[in-house]
Amino acid sequence: MEGKRVGVIGGGQLAWMMAAEAPDLGIEIVVQTPNQDDPAVCLSEQIILADVDDADATAKLASMCDVVTFENEFIDLEALQKLAQSGICFRPSLDTLVPLLDKHDQRSYLKDIGIPVPKFSLWSSQESGTSDLQRRVSSPQSDIESNYGFPVVLKACRHGYDGQGTFIIKDAQALATLDHKVSVQELLVEEFIPFERELGIIAARNASGEIAVYPVTETHQVNQVCHWTITPANIDDRVVKEVKAIARTILDRLKVVGVFGIEFFLTSDSRVLVNEIAPRTHNSGHYTLDGCHTSQFAMQLQAVTGLPLGSTELKSAGALMVNLLGYEESESEYLEKRTQILQVPNSFVHWYGKTSHPGRKLGHVTVILDAEQLPQAKSIIQQIESIWYEN
Ligand code: ADP
Repeated sequence: MEGKRVGVIGGGQLAWMMAAEAPDLGIEIVVQTPNQDDPAVCLSEQIILADVDDADATAKLASMCDVVTFENEFIDLEALQKLAQSGICFRPSLDTLVPLLDKHDQRSYLKDIGIPVPKFSLWSSQESGTSDLQRRVSSPQSDIESNYGFPVVLKACRHGYDGQGTFIIKDAQALATLDHKVSVQELLVEEFIPFERELGIIAARNASGEIAVYPVTETHQVNQVCHWTITPANIDDRVVKEVKAIARTILDRLKVVGVFGIEFFLTSDSRVLVNEIAPRTHNSGHYTLDGCHTSQFAMQLQAVTGLPLGSTELKSAGALMVNLLGYEESESEYLEKRTQILQVPNSFVHWYGKTSHPGRKLGHVTVILDAEQLPQAKSIIQQIESIWYEN
């Protein structure tokens, strides 16, 4: 399918980085995104200006493209299913996405196929009237105390991202005040995992069933938001093998065509649990842009257009990535700080051109590391973060 047009639902930074890889592959990109100033718009051949869950707009997008893929999962799956029945090619397919879009469905699916996940359950306000959720979250004698203890983790089943919709509840008092914050009808409840580390992996599968997995990455979240990653993660070979085997199983079982990012908890007794599958490219794979022979964005295009999958190997001994998160409301381009960060040897700054809000992902930095620098990765991260966050 090379030389083809790929429609992308979503026009944020992930679509922008994908669109930047398209010309080298002889591919054109058309994005469906709500705002003219979204990052990917400038690289899109044509634009469908519409919300990502607007299926009529997706029908229009599909009419201009050979295949439609996704940069985020905030879609209206039911409405898209009608389009798929009329012959529109979605990659990954909608059948692949069915068990993944809702966090409780996803946990249930993984448990059913024997993949280790944290203990979980669903609280639904539909179980016994509309006040059920409120009653449960505000009751100090709630099921939480008896089944999970504290801390406990509550998550909105849909539309969570960057920790929005994820609540780590430390005690009964925090639980009692939560009902003021949550507006959703259903919450995934799960045990808090006192993990030693968080890991991530990017994996791709094409329509012929070929699978390519990248190295395992250590990811570091602060207040549920990713701040940095180091690849390869400094972990036992056994854990590397287990993470890669889980990734292969998931991609095979779901007959994925495309790229997935999978996040894991590694416990102090070396257990590996899946936290989440993102059915698309992922922040934990941004290092691949400068760090690997094939970036996750090129890989997604290759997978969905039927090209052979590329090499997932690192170009050097390792790579670190630091997210540049907004820390103020500003229109600033932060040019001075970006220039300062570029003084770090072998660094690459990617700037998404978005308006700054506190916590918003505005860009990221990758630093390519040779074998001697790899043990210094955390101090290089500190150096970059102190440039970025200093007043
Ligand atoms: P999002 O979908 O918004 O990225 P996640 O469910 O991945 O949210 O959670 C974000 C972060 O919150 C995780 O990377 C981790 O640091 C923390 N977290 C989530 N679930 C748990 C858990 N069960 N135990 C401990 N920490 C958790």
